[in-house]
Amino acid sequence: MKPIDELETVKTVARMAASVCQNIRAEMVTPALKDGREPVTVADYAAQAVIGHALAANFPDDAVLSEERSEEFMLLLNDRQRALVQRFVTDALGGYVFEEQVCAWLDFGKGKRGPRTWVIDPIDGTKGFIGGRHYCVAISLMEESEPILGVLASPGFYSDADTPKEDPGALIYARRGLGAFIEPLSGGLRQPIHVSDVADPLLATLLTSYESAHVDMDLIEAVSAWLGRKSGAPRRALDSQDKYGMVAAGLGDVYLRVVPDPHYTEKPWDHATGYVIVTEAGGRVTDLDGAPIRWATGRRLTANRGLLVSNGVLHERWLRAIEQVGAA
Ligand code: AMP
Ligand code: MG
Repeated sequence: MKPIDELETVKTVARMAASVCQNIRAEMVTPALKDGREPVTVADYAAQAVIGHALAANFPDDAVLSEERSEEFMLLLNDRQRALVQRFVTDALGGYVFEEQVCAWLDFGKGKRGPRTWVIDPIDGTKGFIGGRHYCVAISLMEESEPILGVLASPGFYSDADTPKEDPGALIYARRGLGAFIEPLSGGLRQPIHVSDVADPLLATLLTSYESAHVDMDLIEAVSAWLGRKSGAPRRALDSQDKYGMVAAGLGDVYLRVVPDPHYTEKPWDHATGYVIVTEAGGRVTDLDGAPIRWATGRRLTANRGLLVSNGVLHERWLRAIEQVGAA
């Protein structure tokens, strides 16, 4: 498949998965809990099954690294929840779907090795999804251990604005060498996006996770203080890789990701899509030491701690601040 067709295919799949999530969110969502007490919902499974179905049809030889597994689907969801997943996947695909098929699509490409790996987060920001905040569908493609294509489907991208009802959502995407773009989630004119040129750390809008368990606030405060940022310096807390989308679109300038739990290792599907989009939009992504992210480490980014995402101009100053406060 030609690169441009591949991108269009993935855009369609991401839209479809986001629409499944929105349909499910319109009904009652009762989460189940995974190991480590992370929530998972009917929508995580339905969206991943729809994505797996499309990957199996279009890219049968590729490998897949995705968040959810059929084993947990069978174990964690009750009969009613599994039937709901089946119904939503059936509705999305327009033909009756058996539970065995849902399981096969959930696990499509798992354990395979090869030059191309799809990295999937069917719902990035599940806690945001449950809480009525930000979430997105994140699909990326790694070639030779480097993410080269990424599509984020975000139904609530502009939802912190005063008029969330009019939020058209956003499809934000990039392919290496082609640049990064944004368009309304349901389609329409695409616009190229570029990171901001904000160079003053005092004026930079800092993005952090919304969930307190995902943000090392002591570090954020120490870095901010070292940079001389006042308490009123621009800052926004939001879930999901929408933070990468914001930096790429110039709606934020720096995203600092450090989890307070020192034993936590980041997951590739939480970052790979955002990485392609931000780098193609002219920004920079490293770990807290300024080292490049090593993507080929399996289901966890074991070679890196934390991530710093920026418009590029601000990057060195923030790295230095991180080093100075002793976090790197
Ligand atoms: P964010 O939306 O920035 O809060 O990050 C969301 C991602 O954090 C999820 O997709 C999870 O993979 C990951 N996550 C889940 N639980 C934790 C946790 N306890 N600490 C840090 N990250 C977590
Ligand atoms: Mg996630």
